[in-house]
Amino acid sequence: MTSPHIGIAGAGLAGRTLAWRLARMGCRVSLFDARQRDDLATASQTAAAMLSPLAELAVSDEAVFALGQRSMQLWPQWIAELAQASGEEVYYRQQGTLVVAHAPDQASLEHFSRLLHHKLPAACLSQVQTLDGAALAGYEPMLAGRFGGGLYLAGEGQLANDQWMAALGRELDRLGVSWHEAQSVVSLEAHRIVCADAAYSVDWAVDARGVGSKAQLPGIRGVRGEVLRVECAGVNLQRPVRLMHPRYQLYVAPRPNHQFVVGATELESEDSGPVTVRSVLELASALYSLHPAFGEARVLRMNAALRPALDDHRPAVVQQDGVWHINGLYRHGYLCAPALVDELAHKLLACTT
Ligand SMILES: Cc1cc2nc3c(=O)[nH]c(=O)nc-3n(C[C@H](O)[C@H](O)[C@H](O)COP(=O)(O)OP(=O)(O)OC[C@H]3O[C@@H](n4cnc5c(N)ncnc54)[C@H](O)[C@@H]3O)c2cc1C
Repeated sequence: MTSPHIGIAGAGLAGRTLAWRLARMGCRVSLFDARQRDDLATASQTAAAMLSPLAELAVSDEAVFALGQRSMQLWPQWIAELAQASGEEVYYRQQGTLVVAHAPDQASLEHFSRLLHHKLPAACLSQVQTLDGAALAGYEPMLAGRFGGGLYLAGEGQLANDQWMAALGRELDRLGVSWHEAQSVVSLEAHRIVCADAAYSVDWAVDARGVGSKAQLPGIRGVRGEVLRVECAGVNLQRPVRLMHPRYQLYVAPRPNHQFVVGATELESEDSGPVTVRSVLELASALYSLHPAFGEARVLRMNAALRPALDDHRPAVVQQDGVWHINGLYRHGYLCAPALVDELAHKLLACTT
């Protein structure tokens, strides 16, 4: 039998990772995106890519938690597979995260801790550890003397999403995926992908256009998020640090070469325009309050993008009218993507064999 031909609309995290898994499984894959592959304006390129099944549980539910747990097993395997096949190294760490609060905001930290203890399955409770100031400094010496204590969330991690997206792009070329860059998909039909100037026949069509799927997948909305990327020589953090605050939670996620992603705002708005002054002030203040050494950090980038969300804030892998959808990855796309992509890749193979 000839290998199945899968057409994927959207080359963000979901579409690009699915294309890679399917190509590895022997499928013929055509990938379409309205943007160039290295365009930074998508959620996938903007994200901090923290892999936080525990902390995210405070604002999600057991379905997202289960997807996150499964994905935390798949990420290291997939990164190793990519490195073995292509020599591409992607920065990935799984050394836990820290949660801290300044003295006036201790109540927020205590509430967060109670929420986690309430929502976590009993078998995972030991992953939440309460630290005093000395234990906190043991994990991150740079924070010595700055906080009276905090939480350590074992097993959480982070990924350099820019490296993942770029490395997958090169690997898809090597695997012979047919990539239609800067080609907007107008609609998907059973076995057909329709662009403005041509239509392409495929065995299965997959819609992974994020917020771009709105017309075809009612219920999808964009939730604006903004991040700063800074470089600060001489500052060392091994793991992401979340800073609790009564109005919002901000975090600093370390990247290679003394770079840090500071995020993220969350605004119920589909405005994808440039980062606002208010958000710069909030993000930069959080960074500076974590440690004054960040006052000398250089701002490398400020990005805003729309997280694709469904009303229940759960991701969805569904088939409608002969078209597969992978969408609604919202604020935990990196956390959940491997489990969702793996599920869809196996469903597609089962449909075509
Ligand atoms: C500020 C911010 C911080 C985040 N932090 C984290 C985090 O720490 N951890 C985490 O797990 N998740 C995080 N996320 C969430 C994560 O980034 C998203 O869930 C994920 O990237 C969604 O991926 P996607 O591929 O579904 O959508 P997208 O990234 O939106 O990709 C959709 C693709 O479809 C293309 N497209 C759209 N319309 C069309 C069309 N008509 N034709 C062809 N192509 C089209 C777009 O160009 C794009 O490339 C964050 C998101 C933001 C914005």
